[in-house]
Amino acid sequence: MSNQFPEYRGNMEYYCLGCDSRHGIDELLYTCPRCGSVLLLEDKNFDSLKNKSGREWRELFDNRAACKRDALRGIFRFYELMAPVLEEEDIIYLGDGNTPVVKAAPALQDAVGLPFAIKNDGQNPSASFKDRGMACAFSYLQALVRKHGWDEVLTICASTGDTSAAAALYASYLGGPVKSVVLLPQGKVTPQQLGQPLGSGATVIELPGLFDDCMKVVENLAQNYRVALLNSKNAWRILGQESYAFEAAQWRDWNMEDLCLFVPVGNAGNITAVMSGFLKLHELGIITSLPRLFGVQSAHADPLFQYYQVKHEKDYHPVKARASVAQAAMIGNPVSFPRVRRLAERYRALAGAQAFQVVQVREQDIIESMLLANRHGHVVCTQGGECLAGLREALRLKIVDRHEYALLDSTAHALKFAGFQQLYFDDGFGPEYEITPRREFRNEPVSLLSNPEKEALPEAEYVSRAALAVADRLGLKRR
Ligand SMILES: *Cc1c(COP(=O)(O)O)cnc(C)c1O
Ligand SMILES: [Zn+2]
Repeated sequence: MSNQFPEYRGNMEYYCLGCDSRHGIDELLYTCPRCGSVLLLEDKNFDSLKNKSGREWRELFDNRAACKRDALRGIFRFYELMAPVLEEEDIIYLGDGNTPVVKAAPALQDAVGLPFAIKNDGQNPSASFKDRGMACAFSYLQALVRKHGWDEVLTICASTGDTSAAAALYASYLGGPVKSVVLLPQGKVTPQQLGQPLGSGATVIELPGLFDDCMKVVENLAQNYRVALLNSKNAWRILGQESYAFEAAQWRDWNMEDLCLFVPVGNAGNITAVMSGFLKLHELGIITSLPRLFGVQSAHADPLFQYYQVKHEKDYHPVKARASVAQAAMIGNPVSFPRVRRLAERYRALAGAQAFQVVQVREQDIIESMLLANRHGHVVCTQGGECLAGLREALRLKIVDRHEYALLDSTAHALKFAGFQQLYFDDGFGPEYEITPRREFRNEPVSLLSNPEKEALPEAEYVSRAALAVADRLGLKRR
């Protein structure tokens, strides 16, 4: 039963967050043709899913965790809740989802003062959570290609680094008519992130400015040319990223009591998806309460924080993003803001104003939280560090309680952001970052002996000389 591909098919349509109009999914839409607002996707048959009880759904998803069918092994374990219009042959599985949740090391929990765990979304195939969204968006694209017999599809996205890595990966796997083009802000992605789409064979275009500028160019292209846009403006990406919430709930055995989640916010696609995912689980009775959600933003790119905490939700203003080590979230004008506003309203109506909040953190705390976590056996990226900084800030503000359990989203692998760690170790940050490295977190290689010294010695002698030098340096005692 749980090993079979689901029979259920939804009836999906786009709905507009600006004018509430509805549109069929046979076309690739990114914004409302009527008013230009962002869209979300809805399954018109969703209510029929309520014929199964919460318990039956929980059992189904738990059993499906052992499923051997590729199409159901990744994010589509939760097929009925995501994009139940796809056929099995459309679903692309590259090892997305099912990322490990690692309990924070006991010493780290003691240092922070609250029990927590980290979900390592950097263990997705292209080493960030963006693969969740791409798995869904490319599966849908494959369905369209199959249906319409398209002979060329140019996929395009703007990126702070990880979106392009994920898009290029999925596009290169699909191949055939699907080609990938990515637009990056010059010098604003890490060398690892730049290497990823290049390695996948994508066309990589660099433009001056920040992500927000690239995003406008991509929007212009999507409006005027025949391209498939893969930024989170594409509502199929949001669906795929909901899988994070489903997995988090399943990890807690569907019990949301005392759980609070921390999610870094850039373009706000992820926080949208996480909220939407939990709302769906709640509506079907799969979970009986909603966990608390904290969006985290750097003081250098904090439009959501400004809207929710400072301006008292009067009006929304984009900000100009400044230099940030949480570079993947360095966005001043989040495309998904209208989605967040809509879903946060629903979320708060069901679970109270405390159930959705945004906290702001300093650059210094972001990088030092990352270093602190990684010194305790974790593999947290700067955005994961941002989450930990957010948790510490929330504790300081007393908006989380010591009896709660926190789940932090480390959205990418630490290795993608190794350059920022190096800048910290080298005290190499420009003043715009406002980061002053502290001795206790710095580390550097210790170089012993020189090449000429080595060459001057016979091999056996070199080994004992080197061993002696190491023993001296470490102050080792003889046996
Ligand atoms: C894209 C990204 C973010 C920000 O997510 P949004 O959906 O844009 O808010 C955070 N961390 C990493 C590693 C990312 O790649
Ligand atoms: Zn509209």
